Amino acid sequence: MLLIKNGRVLDPASKTDAPRDILLDGEHIAEIAPTGKIQHGDNAQTFDAAGLIVAPGFIDMHCHLREPGQENSETIETGSHAAARGGFTAICCMPNTKPVNDNASITRFIVDRAKAFGHVRVWPIGAASIGSKGENISEIAAMRDAGIVAVSDDGKPIATAKLARQIMDYCRTLDLPVIEHAEDVSLAAGAVMREGIASTRLGLPGMPAAAESVCVARDVQVAELTGGRLHIAQVRFAKQNGLRVTCEVTPHHFTLIDEDVTYDSRYKMNPPLAAREDREALLEGLADGTVDAIATDHAPHEPAIKDVEFDKAPFGILGFETAVGLALEQLVHTGRIPLMRMVELFTTGPARVLGKDRRLAVGEPADLTIFSLDRPWTYQVRESASKSRNSPFDAHAFKGGPVATVVAGKIAYQHL
Ligand SMILES: [Zn+2]
Repeated sequence: MLLIKNGRVLDPASKTDAPRDILLDGEHIAEIAPTGKIQHGDNAQTFDAAGLIVAPGFIDMHCHLREPGQENSETIETGSHAAARGGFTAICCMPNTKPVNDNASITRFIVDRAKAFGHVRVWPIGAASIGSKGENISEIAAMRDAGIVAVSDDGKPIATAKLARQIMDYCRTLDLPVIEHAEDVSLAAGAVMREGIASTRLGLPGMPAAAESVCVARDVQVAELTGGRLHIAQVRFAKQNGLRVTCEVTPHHFTLIDEDVTYDSRYKMNPPLAAREDREALLEGLADGTVDAIATDHAPHEPAIKDVEFDKAPFGILGFETAVGLALEQLVHTGRIPLMRMVELFTTGPARVLGKDRRLAVGEPADLTIFSLDRPWTYQVRESASKSRNSPFDAHAFKGGPVATVVAGKIAYQHL
């Protein structure tokens, strides 16, 4: 048993914001009571959360763990360790491994490796099409039985509207969300950053903002046609029509803009960093409830392939260990959103997208994220648990961040 005492408990599901002690008995929450009032915690190991926030376990619904196939960049063990350090108790890994997670045997491999070596819960996402090639629908039902929580051809969009229709139709019957990497490949071809003044100044090929919105428009129409659950980025207009469309935002997109891009490949990600006005729109969406989740898109690449010329480097940056610090810095400390809303974006928000529950109540899974609002710390990428080092936030000084991550009643990571 583990007793988390003296903390300020924040639970978006019940709108609780109060001093509470929480007793965890193995896999489940056994008791929640006002400070000092727990009945059965006599023999429990205790964790003193005085001065800290105790929240339901954070979920990252979009990451890349690179196993199987690219273990020089990351493994399920190292990636989930980095996730635990970042305060995440559950992470959803995209299927663009080698081989692609497009069938139940790969899904089972990931689930088994996660059980054996994972520091946090790992919920795989299956490929929408075979090999994510955009031609034929993958074995979605078999993968669902093996443990996937969603499907996606992440890294690229679902190739055609016809295939998107087939996949959304099929996933509707299985009640699985379809996660779309919104990009029109013809408009994005050859581009390495967002098209605009910054790309012109750097002389780098850019993709217009329309490369994203054209694809979103297509998918929203298909979602309307099929009634399927579509999860995508930046879809304010669709949500107003009452469709089952959800979206996520990454910490780097609400923190950085295209003007921050230099020839340093650590600033190369997809979707690329956008214009100042677009960042402002993301911040508004995070504040007004349009955005459902903060997701890291943790995308490790070993130095040998990432530390090359900007136009030759692969897209993506590390995300797990800086996400909570950036959310506090950019969203909460600036007064943009209340703390409860931030917790929602890491908990009930992504849970709802995935068709799961996330709340603090007796009998619920004993997953907690414990964080500080003011602890000063500096992110040193050389100390990261990830195998890769591709972060533009190296040496960044933060105010507040994760302190302890509790998974299935055990402390998965604790910052001392
Ligand atoms: Zn991704």
